[in-house]
Amino acid sequence: MKLTIDNLKRNVPLKNLVTFKLGGPAEYFYEAGSTDGLTAAIEFARQAGMPWFLLGGGSNLVIADEGLDGLVVHNKASDLKHVDHESRQVCLSSGLELEFLVELAHQLGMSGVESFAGIPGSIGGAIYGNAGAYGRSMADVLVDAQLLFPDGSIQTVPNAFFQFDYRSSRLKKEPYVILSAKFQLEPGNRDEIKAKMEDIIEQRHSKHPSYEIGCAGSFFRNLPPLPGEERRRAAGGVLEQAGAKSMSFGGAKVFANHANFIINEGSATASDVKHLADMLKQKVLKDFGIELCEEVLYVGKV
Ligand SMILES: Cc1cc2nc3c(=O)[nH]c(=O)nc-3n(C[C@H](O)[C@H](O)[C@H](O)COP(=O)(O)OP(=O)(O)OC[C@H]3O[C@@H](n4cnc5c(N)ncnc54)[C@H](O)[C@@H]3O)c2cc1C
Repeated sequence: MKLTIDNLKRNVPLKNLVTFKLGGPAEYFYEAGSTDGLTAAIEFARQAGMPWFLLGGGSNLVIADEGLDGLVVHNKASDLKHVDHESRQVCLSSGLELEFLVELAHQLGMSGVESFAGIPGSIGGAIYGNAGAYGRSMADVLVDAQLLFPDGSIQTVPNAFFQFDYRSSRLKKEPYVILSAKFQLEPGNRDEIKAKMEDIIEQRHSKHPSYEIGCAGSFFRNLPPLPGEERRRAAGGVLEQAGAKSMSFGGAKVFANHANFIINEGSATASDVKHLADMLKQKVLKDFGIELCEEVLYVGKV
């Protein structure tokens, strides 16, 4: 498959494609419905010397108000859905939602990914940021993945290639594109899996803003564990002690039920969100000497 500039849309608004519901348009835009289309779009941009950005589910992003130069490729590749019942491994296109993997495993009565119930976004985005919850992350279940390398070659790389860490992978520094991924599941009981998923979804509903409210999940990374402790310290707790819950700027506001969520009250711009985030960082630094670090990604000139 080969793309030309005529296959691309121009000046496409991105705010409806990101969960924060803000940000400007893409100069050029292509929606890739297959792995071949995804590869062709990235290769087109590379060969044309055009800047490009790969958009998954848009659930971890603050897109600049002035939009993005070059090509935005929206990854909706969903052509690969393979289950190997014997090895309990499933291989999926990177543009499928993480929720697809969770529901598929439930339907198959296979365990291992139910902790991810309710995490929005695509499989590619989840691997990029080693998404996870309730003590498990992508690093625990990924066997290998097919990547498009910067030189245009396509290679299958093992889990270790990604150098997974807390909400991080090597892909945050190097521009590999995940085309598909293979996951290892375990024997499980369908009813128990369902019960766990429902429990997790209920906990999420009680803590998180509803999906209609613009946000990008936890805004800041949790902090390293205190000496002698194993679990990371919740950034939300520190923010709450710093008085974050009463803070807002423009249309951006700290969520009343969880101080590590910045929400879009409807009219927020990316620069409102950035301004509020900077206010929160300064307050926590002043009060506790702690430097918070964003988990969400700013894209473009925010
Ligand atoms: C309400 C809410 C709750 C959330 N809860 C959680 C949670 O519990 N745990 C958690 O970890 N996160 C959580 N998040 C954050 C978010 O869902 C995850 O970070 C998610 O995995 C992002 O995936 P995405 O497809 O939306 O990526 P995007 O936001 O579209 O992109 C994120 C980055 O990944 C890159 N990327 C996307 N696809 C690919 C690919 N195929 N190859 C290479 N790079 C790629 C993008 O270029 C970008 O740099 C939450 C978000 C919201 C809105």
